[in-house]
Amino acid sequence: MTKNVIVLGEVRDGDLRNVSFEGIAAAKTIADGGVVTAVLLGEQVNHLAPLMIQYGADRAVIVEDSKLASYTPDGYSQAFLAVVEQEKPDVIIFGHTAIGKDLSPKIASRLGSGLISDVVAIEAVGETIVFTRPIYSGKAFEKKIISDGMIFVTIRPNNIVSFEKDTARTGDVSSISVEIKDLRTIVREVAKKAVKGVDLSEAKVIISGGRGVKSKEGFKTLQKLADVLGGAVGASRGACDADYCDYSLQIGQTGKVVTPDLYIACGISGAIQHLAGMSNSKIVVAINKDPEANIFNIADYGIVGDLFEVVPMLTEELQNLLV
Ligand code: FAD
Repeated sequence: MTKNVIVLGEVRDGDLRNVSFEGIAAAKTIADGGVVTAVLLGEQVNHLAPLMIQYGADRAVIVEDSKLASYTPDGYSQAFLAVVEQEKPDVIIFGHTAIGKDLSPKIASRLGSGLISDVVAIEAVGETIVFTRPIYSGKAFEKKIISDGMIFVTIRPNNIVSFEKDTARTGDVSSISVEIKDLRTIVREVAKKAVKGVDLSEAKVIISGGRGVKSKEGFKTLQKLADVLGGAVGASRGACDADYCDYSLQIGQTGKVVTPDLYIACGISGAIQHLAGMSNSKIVVAINKDPEANIFNIADYGIVGDLFEVVPMLTEELQNLLV
């Protein structure tokens, strides 16, 4: 049965996050010939609408307002509810990001709708759309189907493959005027942590360090490997607690959940709370000097050795290979 689906295009630093394009691919599977509409909220987002269409959306709806320049729960809820009221979609897709996780339950509960969160796969089985999501910190997966009524879905970044950009695609772009009022939060300034390079939650390659990295200096060794592979540096909580790196790098149950193509765990023991954030990575390589370390139980490739010998060696070899 065809469905009309809307997808929030998530804007960060003036650009669309990749999960927005992955959302469109997810929407196409669900829509089954219905209309896929991209929604853009922000201050100056009009120019991003064609990009959502080039990645597969049929049309785009925009709400532009200076009060939407930064995310606030009140402002975005008001704008998004106005879009939902106009479009009356069957399914609404957000990224399973900080914004998506905050906004989707808020609006879903306001509308009395259901929410399937943290979806990692969507497939059509006959007439039925089946949503797969991890449970028990990623140790098992459950499959959900939609019954009647409007439903919200959040998709985990890096799991659903987006379409190739097609610059020939065009579609209708329209605006809605919404009076954004009674904001309980006003963002006066956004102070950014200076995190170098690729965004961890969307990185295809992550070089992650644990307590075994031993110092801030040690993390520079990992950064070199990440630079060669075009990846990002992550960390265990052990490393963050020891102040070897910033907490924004923490991966795990109480940190970021990542699904890169390649995860290289260096000096990480593989505690269950760490695995909760990375065990769905496509390929895991573990470097640890303890052959009994738990990380080897989930690794596709294991290197028993001192990371201060192995990582520089790998970096050099890959550097030579990739030039
Ligand atoms: P360790 O367990 O100390 O392991 C260090 C490893 O480095 C060892 O295996 C050692 O063999 C190896 N090593 C040492 N030197 C070298 C060397 N030179 N070369 C190679 N290997 C070396 N943890 C997370 O990571 N993320 C979370 O989100 C998280 N949430 C938590 C939530 C709760 C409620 C609790 C209770 C804990 C949480 N933890 C989390 C902590 C978790 O239980 C572990 O304590 C933590 O993951 C351990 O970090 P680690 O592997 O870096 O350190």
